[in-house]
Amino acid sequence: MSRIRLLPETVASQVAAGEVVERPASVVKELVENSIDAGARKIDILIRRGGISLVRVIDDGCGMDRDDALLSLERHATSKIRSVSDLEAIATLGFRGEALPSIASVSRFRLTTREQDAVVGTEIVVNGGKIDIVRDGGEAPGTQVEVRSLFYNVPARRKFLRAENTESRNIEHQLHLQAIGHAKVAFTFARDDRVVFQLPATATLIDRIRDLYGNELLEKLLPLNGVGSSQIRISGLIGQAGLSRQTRAQQLVFVNGRAIESPLITTAVREGYHTALMKGQYPVTFLFLELDPGAVDVNVHPAKREVRFRDPNGVREAIVRCIQKALACGRADWQEKFRAPPAQVSAQPLVDLTLRPQVSVPEVSHRELPQCPTAEIVGQAHRLPVPPADSARSDPDWPSLAQQKRVERAATARFQIIGVLNKLYVLMENVDGLVLVDQHAAHERILFEELRRRMEEQGVPSQKLLITQTFELPPRDADWIEQNMSILQKMGIGIESFGPNTFKIDSLPGFLNVTDGAQFMRKVIDDLKSASDRSSPLRLGEDMIAKSVCRHAVKANDPLRYLEVEKLIQDLLECDLPYCCPHGRPTMIQISNVELEKKFGRKV
Ligand code: ADP
Ligand code: MG
Repeated sequence: MSRIRLLPETVASQVAAGEVVERPASVVKELVENSIDAGARKIDILIRRGGISLVRVIDDGCGMDRDDALLSLERHATSKIRSVSDLEAIATLGFRGEALPSIASVSRFRLTTREQDAVVGTEIVVNGGKIDIVRDGGEAPGTQVEVRSLFYNVPARRKFLRAENTESRNIEHQLHLQAIGHAKVAFTFARDDRVVFQLPATATLIDRIRDLYGNELLEKLLPLNGVGSSQIRISGLIGQAGLSRQTRAQQLVFVNGRAIESPLITTAVREGYHTALMKGQYPVTFLFLELDPGAVDVNVHPAKREVRFRDPNGVREAIVRCIQKALACGRADWQEKFRAPPAQVSAQPLVDLTLRPQVSVPEVSHRELPQCPTAEIVGQAHRLPVPPADSARSDPDWPSLAQQKRVERAATARFQIIGVLNKLYVLMENVDGLVLVDQHAAHERILFEELRRRMEEQGVPSQKLLITQTFELPPRDADWIEQNMSILQKMGIGIESFGPNTFKIDSLPGFLNVTDGAQFMRKVIDDLKSASDRSSPLRLGEDMIAKSVCRHAVKANDPLRYLEVEKLIQDLLECDLPYCCPHGRPTMIQISNVELEKKFGRKV
């Protein structure tokens, strides 16, 4: 007896639905994408009980006639591609012809649609994949899809749904992606009859971000300017250094207008940020990549979430470069901001917060201070001279206000130091308001950039080990070391071959405090292998430096003299990435005048 049989159409659809419709958010995604493909200018979305009880999407797109409406519910029925060759250059969000039949097979489904100039529309009701009603409908031109009781006939699936709140949040995230990806379309989203957001159609991404997330976020974003390479155009906005989130929720990436998830891009973004990102944190990105449609395969995942690039390395490098460039541009803005408010550099007295000593002192000469960036590598890494504890208050180097102002004007007049709080936070005034600088984090950044520059220019000085060590490695690792010997030596690692698969190590980077050379080498190999691009040895060197500067930088509770603080701030502003330490923690926080006015109830 034959055992193989064709599945009935409804069962086949339910099986396929398993891949396309994972949860209510997937329903929302597919329906909204259909609306966008239909040229809608306005899309209204309503959900109830996390989308499990109802998802309704109404658009003002092109609509369908009755034949097409019926056909749209058949599997593999699509108006978007006709042949395999069309797959090479897909310009629409949909193309698989699976969504509507899949959704209709696992819900109570109602479609009403009307073409723009048609006298009458069509209404189709489908329950669990079975068409129950087809009749004339009188809705406005466009399409309305209602999906009720999702998975009512697939209990196994229903069990996997999360709490309503979680499903609602997933839907909201999905709608954020669509709204950011399509700024020209107006969106309204209501959850359990409460409007969550109402976004007018806008001309630019910036307006859309402002409408959705507010000005506060927008102010912390940097533009990515245009070209990445001849193959790829990169645009959008990314968070400035120091801005990060605990989840990936605001890391939005679009490839040819399609929101996607891509480990390759996530890694490239991290690489671009590098020390500008705190460990375990995620950057904020609104990243748009445009490639020749032939250079990217979107037909990888049933939910079309993933893509494959023809030239993944090219894509990665372009992203890394673009992000580095944007972060570096952000620096100029910051420096500009640090200009002290011109009106106040004049003789207008400031209130003395007693952070500064009240003693009157003779005019301070701009005496030579030990230069922060002339730090010696190794344990002699530069330290700001630390006066004895508590000397700050009585330190005659803290000038009176008037003298301080004179010094500032004589110097660069770029910033105005008010004092130091808790022997840690430098308080400053700039055009926007108040700035707090963490002196330890700031010094870490200064040392880090200095050591990195030296590593690039001269290589890392190494320090002899007391005892030469030999160690053996598996053949593939040994081979790898052979190939990278010269880079390792440049990084201050004194390593030589010592027989088959065996190496001798007699020195290590001087600024590291490592005793077990062999163990250190194994770690280096793992690190270097996991970062597979050309910049990685340098990257590894940076990581080593970042770890070591922490020990050498001025600590909290180290009271600094006024001129030392001034020098610290000046050096910080000269850094490539002044606004975060090499571990990605912020070095400075701005509290704007507007924020202060709000806090004091002067402004609502
Ligand atoms: P796909 O989007 O992959 O083509 P779907 O199953 O999502 O497959 O939709 C099938 C077809 O139904 C689409 O190709 C499109 O022609 C039509 N369609 C779906 N939704 C809409 C809509 N909101 N407005 C107009 N036409 C639609
Ligand atoms: Mg579709």
